[in-house]
Amino acid sequence: MPALTHDVLNQSVPLEDVNLLDADLALREGLEREGAGWAVDRARDTGAVAGSAEAQEHGRRAERNEPRLVTHDRFGHRVDRVDLDPSWHWLLRGAVEREIHALPWRDPRPGAHVARAALELLWTHADAGVMCPVSMTYSAVPALRRTPELAAEWEPRLTLPDYDRGALCGMAMTEKQGGSDVRANTTRADPAGDGWFELTGHKWFCSYPPCDVFLVLAQAPAGLSCFLLERGPGMEFQRLKDKLGTRSLPSAEVEFRGAAARLLGDEGRGVATIVEMVTHTRLDCVIGSAAGMRRGVAEAVHHARHRSAFGRRLAEQPAMVNVLADLAIESEAATASALRLARAYDENDAPLRRFATAVLKYWVCKRATPHAAEALECLGGNGYVEESPMPRLLRDAPLNGIWEGSGNVMSLDVLRALAREPDGLPAFLAECELARGGDARLDARLDALEPPTDEWSARRGVEDLALAFQASLLVRHAPPAVADAFCAGRLGEARGRAFGTLPASVDGDAIVERALAT
Ligand SMILES: Cc1cc2nc3c(=O)[nH]c(=O)nc-3n(C[C@H](O)[C@H](O)[C@H](O)COP(=O)(O)OP(=O)(O)OC[C@H]3O[C@@H](n4cnc5c(N)ncnc54)[C@H](O)[C@@H]3O)c2cc1C
Repeated sequence: MPALTHDVLNQSVPLEDVNLLDADLALREGLEREGAGWAVDRARDTGAVAGSAEAQEHGRRAERNEPRLVTHDRFGHRVDRVDLDPSWHWLLRGAVEREIHALPWRDPRPGAHVARAALELLWTHADAGVMCPVSMTYSAVPALRRTPELAAEWEPRLTLPDYDRGALCGMAMTEKQGGSDVRANTTRADPAGDGWFELTGHKWFCSYPPCDVFLVLAQAPAGLSCFLLERGPGMEFQRLKDKLGTRSLPSAEVEFRGAAARLLGDEGRGVATIVEMVTHTRLDCVIGSAAGMRRGVAEAVHHARHRSAFGRRLAEQPAMVNVLADLAIESEAATASALRLARAYDENDAPLRRFATAVLKYWVCKRATPHAAEALECLGGNGYVEESPMPRLLRDAPLNGIWEGSGNVMSLDVLRALAREPDGLPAFLAECELARGGDARLDARLDALEPPTDEWSARRGVEDLALAFQASLLVRHAPPAVADAFCAGRLGEARGRAFGTLPASVDGDAIVERALAT
């Protein structure tokens, strides 16, 4: 006999065994629009696997069974190993076999960066943690190409879609005394002859220390330089960070004790060399944040369609529709931005790529945390418990905002781009102007746009630029209900502060209907 008090009523069901591509109209349309229509089938395969109950369980397991550092064997020899749950390997293998770490380098046809972005947007639903080594490996290749001999040696392995025979690349820049200001690095690189150096020093954050190789910044005789270091003798894992989020991913403190490394790029030009990697990881921060927002919307809408309160489904109640619609337009703007930005990488559109990466890295990442918190709230108490995906989503959300340039650093980077690269802003504004005439509120915003001129106003100016870019994309490509709500909620007089403050004129039902096509 079931206990009389234990009828399970009015509960939702897990959002599982759903094809994440088919459910996401904004992504499907964007994939075609930005030049990667050829990748729809592989994206659909990835969407099916990432949305499966099996993948979701692997994600939960990898998060629960956290990585464990093993520094020594039982006889006292250093082993510097991280023990990882089999689910971690399942997830990372799945990403590598889908070429998310390498697609544009293996198959550089038009749309390859966009296709890869779509695969990343989908696989992140299974686990955001594995995307860190995937992203670093993808991003390392353009930096490696600065030294053709090293690229010839390592690129074939780093781009292999084979988890067992391929290799992964990490990065070690950040030190205790400063992460943003890498010029303050104190790790030393002493010449050892024949292009080799010995690295001595400590790195404060080094994610996925099991990587095969790392790009490391260190002070050589001619100044801060970039090195390629193979994991092995002289590189010791000190401890793993006990982190707020991405708990499935080991992030370590590492010590270099005369570790052998080779110079990458020119000596004394370390920042200029590693910036090739940093630029691509910044693109991935945008993609990763867009993926998190998409997950939040999907879970919130799904829950609201299954849960009733006061006699009606939550998804039918105006106050909830306003919240869901507001979350949905933010997510759609982020997805559209990520895919458009990826196309700038495909087209090697250097001015737009440079400028838009800085602006969007700032803004899309900044929106991820409040978005995750609001999406969580849509599930009420059910969103607050660890069996739900929402706590993980919220814990993971701030990372992309910190990594590879925190908010201030990114807004200052926009100032730097304005000062040093005169083609960037015109290319960015030309993209925004393509929507001119499509919405009066956007036209007014474009007329009034004032790029930031000083550090104090940097964030505000970058925010305005980002919103103009996103509105332009939605006005041109999204259904009228989405574009109208975005312009009303983000540009117009009626804009509110929290999510769920869209004006009454918007068509919330149409937006929510579109937000989860299941
Ligand atoms: C989970 C995780 C994984 C990571 N993995 C890696 C990794 O694999 N490899 C690696 O090298 N690093 C890694 N990092 C480090 C990360 O890149 C740094 O934390 C980041 O660059 C910021 O550096 P910091 O922590 O030293 O903060 P700081 O540089 O001290 O910055 C602190 C704050 O000051 C602000 N700030 C800095 N300069 C200015 C300025 N001029 N004006 C105004 N404000 C300013 C920043 O925006 C930030 O908000 C990781 C970090 C995390 C959280």
